[in-house]
Amino acid sequence: MQTLQLKTLSRDELDAFIESLDEKLFRAAQLWSWLYQKNIVDFGHMTNLAKEFRIHLLEKTTAKRLDLIHLNHSESTGTQKFLWQLEDGQQIESVYIPEGSRRTVCVSTQVGCAMGCTFCATGRMGLIRNLSEYEILEQVLSIWDRINEKPTNIVVMGMGEPFQNYENVIKSLTILNHVDGAAMGARKITISTCGIVPRILQFAKERQPFKLAISLNATTDAVRSRIMPINRKYPLKELMKAAKYYSHHTRKRITFEYVLIKDVNDTSEDAGRLLKLLQDLPCKINLIAYNATSGKYARPDEAVIKRFAKQIESICAPVILRLSKGDDINGACGQLLVEKVNVF
Ligand code: SAH
Ligand code: SF4
Repeated sequence: MQTLQLKTLSRDELDAFIESLDEKLFRAAQLWSWLYQKNIVDFGHMTNLAKEFRIHLLEKTTAKRLDLIHLNHSESTGTQKFLWQLEDGQQIESVYIPEGSRRTVCVSTQVGCAMGCTFCATGRMGLIRNLSEYEILEQVLSIWDRINEKPTNIVVMGMGEPFQNYENVIKSLTILNHVDGAAMGARKITISTCGIVPRILQFAKERQPFKLAISLNATTDAVRSRIMPINRKYPLKELMKAAKYYSHHTRKRITFEYVLIKDVNDTSEDAGRLLKLLQDLPCKINLIAYNATSGKYARPDEAVIKRFAKQIESICAPVILRLSKGDDINGACGQLLVEKVNVF
């Protein structure tokens, strides 16, 4: 019989599993609390569970963590990049970003990504596979275990396109959000998508409590299709329509990400078009200076970045000039690329 990873189970599924073992239902609540409130994986330490029950669990299940194979620590910012090895030998990365009282974990959702954005290192890998719900949420729990403090924020902005792995992403975040467990606030969890329109609509209709970010990155279809091939399937007009639907339906503010790339999308005409695109939409804009991933593109000069920020600040919503933390360890946005490390 295959060993069951307990963290693949939702709260209801855990109840059903415990019942299938002929155990009392309150055992499920106790176990859930050990796994997610206390972040304990060793059944031996779950002291309020009867010994026979623990033996039962040990025989049939596991709660074990991801295997860490490499850790990069940036002394200057405190950012840490974790390289994990999965059961099938695939590798993924997560990034831990401390900032004041905030402890943010950036999680991956796929091994590689099929979307092929030309400025993104992960895009160059192609898609290898989706991550399971367990592999997604365990990145947060394993980092929590290693830094010895519960993370406060989650950004789903690591490797992969979360809306191409919708069910597992939502399930993993719902587990982390559960009040009797890790209780990570939905407003402190942000999912970033490159613009998969049907999934944005689904996310809105389901009234998912998590925050939404959309990687816009260009203001014309010509440029966006060139740097983000998904735009050929869901062009700007459709994307903005979906964004407006989301905004009206949920009354929540979207964050638009805009990676500034030298001579590609950084002119004052671009800034003007950006304002126009977003004018009726309550939103935030996250400007990100391009992080080098290959020789093809470059980061605009500081003066250009500041001018762009100023131009959109004057009319539109607040601009957050996000410092790309961790680029000294290739842990910044778009730099997550597993260069296959051969461990065998
Ligand atoms: N696939 C999702 C989430 C992962 S990418 C998405 O595309 O939104 C997370 C963010 O990193 C996106 O906003 C993306 O535009 C940005 N990004 C990708 N490559 C980058 C690079 N080289 N420099 C700066 N940001 C980059
Ligand atoms: Fe995939 Fe996002 Fe990178 Fe595009 S930017 S290739 S969608 S991870």
